[in-house]
Amino acid sequence: MSKEPLNILISGAGIAGATLALCLARQPHLEPKPNITLIERAPKPRTTGQAIDIRGPGVNVIRRMGIEQKIKAKHTTETGICFVDQAGNTVAKFDATGDTEHQTATSEFEILRGELTELLLDEVQEANEKENVNINVVYGETIATLKEEDDGVQISFTNGMLEAQKFDVVAAADGVSSQTRPMMLDQYKDGAEVNPSGMYIAFFTAPRLEHDKDIWSWFTAPSGLAAHLRPHRNKTTMGAYLAVTNSKSEGIPEVDAALSKNVAAQKALLHERFANVDYTEKKRMLEAMDQSEDFYMQQVARVLTSKWTSSRCALIGDSAYAVMGMGTSLAMIGAYMVAGELSKVQTNSAAEISAALQRYEDGMKPFATKCQKMPNGVLQLANPQTTLGVGVLRSVLRFVYWTGLGKLLSSDRWQSDEKWQLPDYGWEGAKTEKS
Ligand SMILES: Cc1cc2nc3c(=O)[nH]c(=O)nc-3n(C[C@H](O)[C@H](O)[C@H](O)COP(=O)(O)OP(=O)(O)OC[C@H]3O[C@@H](n4cnc5c(N)ncnc54)[C@H](O)[C@@H]3O)c2cc1C
Repeated sequence: MSKEPLNILISGAGIAGATLALCLARQPHLEPKPNITLIERAPKPRTTGQAIDIRGPGVNVIRRMGIEQKIKAKHTTETGICFVDQAGNTVAKFDATGDTEHQTATSEFEILRGELTELLLDEVQEANEKENVNINVVYGETIATLKEEDDGVQISFTNGMLEAQKFDVVAAADGVSSQTRPMMLDQYKDGAEVNPSGMYIAFFTAPRLEHDKDIWSWFTAPSGLAAHLRPHRNKTTMGAYLAVTNSKSEGIPEVDAALSKNVAAQKALLHERFANVDYTEKKRMLEAMDQSEDFYMQQVARVLTSKWTSSRCALIGDSAYAVMGMGTSLAMIGAYMVAGELSKVQTNSAAEISAALQRYEDGMKPFATKCQKMPNGVLQLANPQTTLGVGVLRSVLRFVYWTGLGKLLSSDRWQSDEKWQLPDYGWEGAKTEKS
């Protein structure tokens, strides 16, 4: 009997969800081609967000998917990172390495989140038109109920854009605050898997001024405050970030309250927090924030989950293993591995699909766990509360800069792991690019 195409539902059209749709469409050994439904809560593609990057085995994923050069072409043009004082003078500077295997804070694959999302969704569209795969992308829709049964996962939808139906596989790619996660796995009903870091970042776009440079400038002020400016490729705008960090790895009730309200409350809170900060770029940044339409604020959180799969369901991306610095790479690696493991199933039975998803979880977990290791309080050290603390931080950075120890900033956590190899899944010789 010939195998039926897999019916796959992906919840969330961000980096993880769009990458999964694309990997499923292009996976060379997934036959017959699957039917994919990709749903997104927002009414249109969320093609906003500032710089994100791709590191370690994530680079191999984009190579195999055939999009490395397209991503490189959208590099933000950032040349490195520069820590500055209140007058904007350099305290310490660390250049990008130019080496995809040993990247520092500025990656060789530094791209705006909005541009990467758009690129992936365009590729999904192209796969839909040119390859023998059926991908239905639906905006303004979420999962209302999810029930796993032996012959599939019964799903009903919230907004009536899709009929209730059964899928062979369901993937939750709906980010840190995933609503699908507790529907799939009971142990996530209380939300304890989302671990606050105490740091909140607001991202928005600001007009570029004549004195702005193609380097990431990072200013630190007491009370755990920081202001960042990062170049955009278009040379007319800059990525602007305002960060607030607690003295402990715990949420700040006042900031959480603003996050649960609306953008206006978040902007008002940042005005209040930065009111007494002495920094030459402060005024233009706050003005740009008030004008910005792409303002996005979030708490930096780690999602620490012990289980990612349940029979026919899987968590991927931030919903399973969010972490600062490697979140996008892990999201792409996870999507690639789910597609790869599903390409091995011979029938659409619960036993085979469950085994495939379990192989994804078992195979990727050692690497994800390593990436999620972060010494306690590291964000607090980088974002001091006192003037003395800021002075000490600047002295340390100056020392590291002048002694050349900056090379150590190329963290091992971000590199390919010799002990962990990205599985191939038969992509070699398929549609890939040369770097
Ligand atoms: C608008 C936006 C801007 C961002 N900007 C930055 C940034 O500037 N810098 C940075 O480091 N990180 C940013 N991030 C986070 C970053 O994209 C992720 O940490 C990382 O790329 C992993 O991606 P992900 O696909 O797992 O999660 P995300 O990129 O968060 O994508 C999750 C997707 O799921 C959708 N979604 C949420 N709930 C539901 C639901 N119930 N049903 C269906 N869909 C749902 C969301 O709208 C989103 O499109 C941003 C995320 C978003 C959504």
